[in-house]
Amino acid sequence: MAQEFDVVVIGAGPAGYVAAIRCAQLGLRTACVDKWINKQGKPALGGTCLNVGCIPSKALLESSEHYHSAVHDFPRHGIKAKDVKMDVAAMIGRKDEVVLKLTGGIEMLFKANKIHWAKGHGRLLANRQVEVTPVDGKGEPEILQAANVILASGSTPMEIASAPLDGKRIVDSTGALEFTEVPKRLAIIGAGVIGLELGSVWNRLGSKVVLLEAQDKFLFHTDQQIAKEALRQFTKQGLEVRLGARVMSAKANPKSVTVQFKDSEGDHKLQVDKLIVAVGRRPYTDNLIAPEADILLDEKGFVHVDEDNRANQPGIYAIGDVVRGPMLAHKGSEEGVKVAEIIAGGHGHVNYEAIPLVIYTAPEIAWVGKTEEQLKGTGVPYRSGAFPFAANGRALAMDQAVGMVKILAHAETDRVLGVHIIGPMASELLQEAVLAIEFEASAEDLARTIHAHPGLGETIHEAALAVDKRALHKAN
Ligand code: FAD
Ligand code: AMP
Repeated sequence: MAQEFDVVVIGAGPAGYVAAIRCAQLGLRTACVDKWINKQGKPALGGTCLNVGCIPSKALLESSEHYHSAVHDFPRHGIKAKDVKMDVAAMIGRKDEVVLKLTGGIEMLFKANKIHWAKGHGRLLANRQVEVTPVDGKGEPEILQAANVILASGSTPMEIASAPLDGKRIVDSTGALEFTEVPKRLAIIGAGVIGLELGSVWNRLGSKVVLLEAQDKFLFHTDQQIAKEALRQFTKQGLEVRLGARVMSAKANPKSVTVQFKDSEGDHKLQVDKLIVAVGRRPYTDNLIAPEADILLDEKGFVHVDEDNRANQPGIYAIGDVVRGPMLAHKGSEEGVKVAEIIAGGHGHVNYEAIPLVIYTAPEIAWVGKTEEQLKGTGVPYRSGAFPFAANGRALAMDQAVGMVKILAHAETDRVLGVHIIGPMASELLQEAVLAIEFEASAEDLARTIHAHPGLGETIHEAALAVDKRALHKAN
């Protein structure tokens, strides 16, 4: 007899595990199927984000930032530190500890919420049955019968034929979190979010980093005023960004990698120690859906869903990276909560206009809402106000007075349409801007809100004042 559940979730990343927890909180009998095997060879919850994505990358960014700061910034603060050295193994070990703490935490939450964790590969069959096959191939497949199924199988790195991975010298983002020493020369294909974050880690530790980006514009989906400032800062840090670069071939040799690429200046050859391929991610649906389940995928391979994340068959939902929308952990988690509420008979809702986006470089880049280019493109009348961190006391005290906050507000209603930040702690500052957009605040609302002094948040206050040309600490 198949075990019966109200909900079976396939995938325990931030979309799936959050969906499972909310379903259980709402009194639904819930199972979550996942096949992840971690670095220690054990089944682990948390998916890409906790195991090889958001969390480990932030752990390495933090460590590398401390090292860089100790070498380059301490003297300005009057601190003399001799012989500062980087122990890469210790850095990777700390990263692994953080990952284990968090993935173990999800396991405890599953126990506390009485969620059945089915360890193995899940496959959706007809009539909302899910077949679970043990990852090691030992033991018989088990069948779970569900009233509802949530597909949350996530995404996987895209590969390109011109740069086949060898797992040693040519690696994807997962491999780039496991280098055992600092590569002297490092090339990265793709100057997107992941390429820039990983490039920053190894650049800070001493690698000579070259990013090869196919697009002619840097961070083409970001507000271009912010992108220009970012490129200026990254170039100053020694990151070499080659735009309009088409990689023709990459070949791993015993001691190096040869990368050939073309750009507007002609053909080039690079010799590096490691190559990271970071050209984006694709929805992961390998062996996820049996033909008889009759689930529609779109032309890019995402599970086709409606606004409520319903797939084309009753009782089947899909959330997170495996469906349309930005591939972000928090977007997937919110969809997980939404779908759980809908299944339990309530109302689920995600405001896709208020999803924060962050690049955790230094300075950080963070934004929510529309870019200036999008507003121009759609003919929406707007006013813009900007304020530089160079005029902010807290940023100066931190010795991190670079970048700016830029607020875009509707020219007639003053409603905040977009907030774009490049600067220290931009990711944390952005939360206020997300709230402003969620609450449909006006720039005037932000301008009339008291911000503690001295604080980085004062830049948001001043940028909001600047929308109305009445910033106090800069000439308007
Ligand atoms: P995933 O996290 O990919 O989880 C899917 C899970 O499903 C996995 O555990 C997988 O094993 C399992 N699975 C798949 N198919 C099956 C099956 N058939 N049977 C059983 N189990 C299955 N996002 C952010 O928001 N912030 C960041 O800072 C950030 N940094 C990132 C850094 C890196 C290096 C990378 C690679 C990604 C980063 N992301 C970040 C993106 C983020 O990791 C993803 O958006 C997020 O993990 C998507 O969540 P998900 O639950 O949809 O899928
Ligand atoms: P993201 O989607 O943020 O992870 O970024 C991936 C980046 O890789 C984008 O900026 C893409 O333009 C870039 N990219 C994709 N394919 C290639 C390629 N073949 N060569 C160089 N860059 C690429």
